[in-house]
Amino acid sequence: MILSNKYILPVPAASLERIDRSSSPAHTGKLRNAIDLIAPVGTPVFAAADGVVRFVNDESNTGGPSIEYWNDTNFIVIEHPGGEYSRYDHLEFKSAQVKPNQPAKSGQSIGRVGMTGFTYLPHLHFQVFVFTGPNLLMDFDTLPVPDFA
Ligand SMILES: [Zn+2]
Repeated sequence: MILSNKYILPVPAASLERIDRSSSPAHTGKLRNAIDLIAPVGTPVFAAADGVVRFVNDESNTGGPSIEYWNDTNFIVIEHPGGEYSRYDHLEFKSAQVKPNQPAKSGQSIGRVGMTGFTYLPHLHFQVFVFTGPNLLMDFDTLPVPDFA
């Protein structure tokens, strides 16, 4: 699978503790290509490529190490050329700096790392995906991002 876009590291390199590609028990099935970027709460989150913001939720102030928090994640989704989307999860409460249908430039600050949703430690969950149907929560498949540009 060849990606249509180049994706940059969506957090500052100086804030990145490590990248976990497969350690999360949630990264199976459709989420097998998701990436966890371990970084402190409050770390800026960058758009990983040029695109248009499609979904923004930063209304949740709830999260922790239990699956019961799965639906409490704050997240942003950006649409990129070629039908690819990037998704950023566990964002801090009220940290979104973009709105739906607004263009986003690669490297633009869009929010901050938080602990909302199902998460054991502060990190940014990042995935590149394509839609396989109309439902954001169900109808998608993730694509491998071999290296950040
Ligand atoms: Zn994750």
